[in-house]
Order: sequence, then structure tokens, then C-alpha cells
Amino acid sequence: MIIVPEKVIPALIGHEESYAAIEKVFASMASRKAYNFPVIREAIGYADALYGFKSGFDRDALNLGLKSGGYWPGNAAKGLTNHQSTVFLFDADTGKCRAVVGGNLLTALRTASAAAVSVAHLSRKDSEVLGIVGAGHQAAFQLRAVADQRDFRKVVAWNRTPEKLEGLAKVAKDLGLPFESVSLENLGAQSDVIVTITSSFAPILLAEHVRPGTHLACMGTDTKGKQELDPALVTKATCFTDEVAQSITIGECQHAIAAGSLADTDIVELGAVINGDHAGRTSDEEITMFDGTGVGLQDLAVAGAVVALAVEKGVAVEVDF
Ligand code: NAD
Repeated sequence: MIIVPEKVIPALIGHEESYAAIEKVFASMASRKAYNFPVIREAIGYADALYGFKSGFDRDALNLGLKSGGYWPGNAAKGLTNHQSTVFLFDADTGKCRAVVGGNLLTALRTASAAAVSVAHLSRKDSEVLGIVGAGHQAAFQLRAVADQRDFRKVVAWNRTPEKLEGLAKVAKDLGLPFESVSLENLGAQSDVIVTITSSFAPILLAEHVRPGTHLACMGTDTKGKQELDPALVTKATCFTDEVAQSITIGECQHAIAAGSLADTDIVELGAVINGDHAGRTSDEEITMFDGTGVGLQDLAVAGAVVALAVEKGVAVEVDF
């Protein structure tokens, strides 16, 4: 069995390798060669923690396994990240444990890659202004991954507490892009692509904020009750997702579905666009929306890629198990 510790992962994988793994697994999901198993997430009644696992099998890449972990709010005080996760991969031929891989950086990379893949396949090619809503841990990863997909000229951003935007401003500077902290109205009026990555439980972006032709990558809503968009905006947009079952239950589309203004059959898997089975955006005026709910197969895809890279570079720890 191979162990790839969290500390060696930053030197092994970046946005480019993660993007390739995520685009491929979304395509496999849409062609029904890869599927996710039901998600388990529980408040365990100890340390205020939320714990669970996401799992699945990709028959194309032979990635079988799960990501296990969750949220421990007391970790920051102990000098640890609140979100903790580990990926376990199993041999699809024998069921033996193949690898254990640190899942913290991989979670941020695979989430950013999902948004980036949606931008590459759904946003207007002439997109120039990138809007980011949110400035937490994931936001910087989102900015780096998405900025690569179009010839962006500027980044505009909004956060509930604007002082936290300093970190994003530094990333934009690093990328050589001008950065502005703006109101939501101003962000919507300027942006061609908007990424939302907050933990909000109420709408932030409203239909009147967003102009025709915008692509929205909605990445924050991954739990029942969370919400970043006004359902009227979701209804106005052409909706794409990683997985329809998650989109309608724990993703951004859950609210428009509950309101009866959207049907599950209105939502298209991004993989169908990647495979050429759906046209994706059909006009420069269309608002497209990607509901990135985060599926277990994304975790397995990047973990599989990292195991291959660790073996290639000789940093995988092998144990007899
Ligand atoms: P974080 O705690 O580091 O940052 C949270 C962000 O949300 C901050 O910008 C904060 O200002 C903002 N926020 C919180 N409550 C808000 C509110 N009521 N209104 C407006 N803004 C609010 O979190 P993070 O690690 O950056 O994660 C952000 C979100 O992304 C979380 O909801 C997390 O669960 C989700 N997430 C999704 C995926 C996925 O695959 N879709 C993967 C990882 C994380």
C-alpha cells in the first residue's frame, strides 16, 4: 500500500494536473462509466464535528475509494485546518487498499478545477472581467485556477468583510491582474465570469445584479440549506452541474427546485458538454450557471493522479499492509 502524506502533495500536483483529472472524470460521469455512491455526513455529537464520506467508482480510470473527513471547528485553535480529509483508494480487481492520500490540498484543487472546467467550456471566449464573491480559504485557489481559462484583464471581488479581500488582491497581483474591491451591484455590472465561494445560507447574488452573457460558477453551496443565488437568477440561467442528484438536494439548484421554478430535467451535466453531447452555451446573451456541488469522484480523480506522480517521483511511502 502507498501512503502520500499531505506535506509532499504541494510539490507533486498543481492546477494543471488537477484540471486534467477533473475534466476527464466529469466526462466519464456523463458517459456513465463513473458513478458516485450516496454521501454520508453526520454531526457526530463530539467536538462539534461534522464527519462523513464521499465515495464512488470510475471504471475508466479504475479509481475506487472514498474521501473521509469533515469539519472540526476547534482545530484552528490547535494550529490545524478546520476542514480535514483523507482519501483511500482500493484496488478495483482485488479490493485491497491501494493508497492513503492526504486530502486537504486536493479538496481545494479539485474544487477550483471544477469551476475552471466550467469556465473553459461555458463562459464567453471574449470574457475579460472575473468577479469573485467570497474571500475564504477556497477563494484564492478559485482565482488561480479560473484566471488561466480566459484572457482576463481585471479581477473584481466582494466579501461580507471587505478587509479579508487583501489575500485575493495579493493573488491577483501575483497573476499580474489589476484588482478592485467592489459592491455586489458593481461586480455584477462588470463581470463576464463570476465565481461564488461562500458559506452563505441566504441569497447574495440577485437576478438584477447579473448581466446577459455572464457565466456563474457557484461553488459554495454543498449542503442542504446553503444558498448563494436568488432562485430567480437560477431560473433565468441555463443550469449545468457536476451531478444532478447532488445539485437538486445539496447544491445551489435545491432552492429553485423547492420553489418549483426549475425541474431536474432542466439541469445538464457538465460532462455532457465536455463529451460533445450537449452544446453548452448557445448565445452571447445566455446566462450560464455551473452548480459545483463537489462529488467523491473528483477526490478519487486527483488522488489517483497524485499517487501516480508520487510513484514516478519516488516520494510515495510503501508499506506492507
Ligand atoms: P471559509 O470559512 O474559509 O470562508 C467562508 C467565506 O464565506 C468567507 O468569504 C465569508 O466571508 C463568507 N461568508 C460566510 N457566511 C456568509 C454569509 N452569510 N454571507 C456572505 N458571505 C458569507 O470557507 P472556504 O473553505 O473558503 O469554503 C467556502 C464554501 O465553499 C463553504 O461553504 C464550503 O463548504 C464550500 N466548499 C465547497 C466545495 C465544493 O466542492 N463545492 C468544496 C470545498 C468547500
